[in-house]
Amino acid sequence: CGIVGYIGKRDVAPLLLEGLQRLEYRGYDSAGIVVTTPKSSGLKMVKAKGRVRDLEAKVPARFKGTTGIAHTRWATHGAPSDVNAHPHMSADNKVAVVHNGIIDNASELRRKLEAEGVTFLSETDTEVLTHLIARSRAEKLEDKVREAVRLVEGTYGIAVLHADFPERIVVARNGSPVVLGIGEKEMFVASDIAALVTHTRQIVTLDDGEMATLKADDFRTYTTEGTRTTSEPTTVEWEA
Ligand code: GLU
Repeated sequence: CGIVGYIGKRDVAPLLLEGLQRLEYRGYDSAGIVVTTPKSSGLKMVKAKGRVRDLEAKVPARFKGTTGIAHTRWATHGAPSDVNAHPHMSADNKVAVVHNGIIDNASELRRKLEAEGVTFLSETDTEVLTHLIARSRAEKLEDKVREAVRLVEGTYGIAVLHADFPERIVVARNGSPVVLGIGEKEMFVASDIAALVTHTRQIVTLDDGEMATLKADDFRTYTTEGTRTTSEPTTVEWEA
């Protein structure tokens, strides 16, 4: 339902929780957050059924990070629960995915992955993306995500964090909005500009079939086929 992400120098958890609160008006049943640091100490994740403030209450005092993604879920596949809340993380704790939308061929992909020995933790359609990315043999995170999204049918706005690539967030869009917020040595991403405009008015809206890599001081956009696309930020007017 709602996605927010940040990469920069700030303490990311409070920033993302505040972003999730700005998306609460859309409705949701659970929420979650995952963070990391450039000198990756791995991914740290907390998820909770209920309100953003229930999630906030579960976030430990030492939950420091400068890169992170967060989600409010409106369940389509699997009941609202802590486990079914996003992010969905791989068994080795390396890949974390948040997803808006519906993967139509999730049960087919799930059967295939299970036949190959993958254990699913949740009942969501989203979790297939986590395992597809985690199992990709491509070297670059962008290529892992490209391979995965090309196998799924349906709608998605996704943001991906990988412990081995702590200085980037990779996002993709098909039928579910993804907006980049361009800052000064910091970048934002969200499913709704309401979560961005308190931080920046410089916006890039992804098209369907488009992906992006966010680094603290740089971003680039490309298609799911890997062709670079040009996206000049536009300045949005917004009444606060
Ligand atoms: N289909 C996903 C799920 O049920 C995502 C739902 C959403 O957009 O929040 O977990």
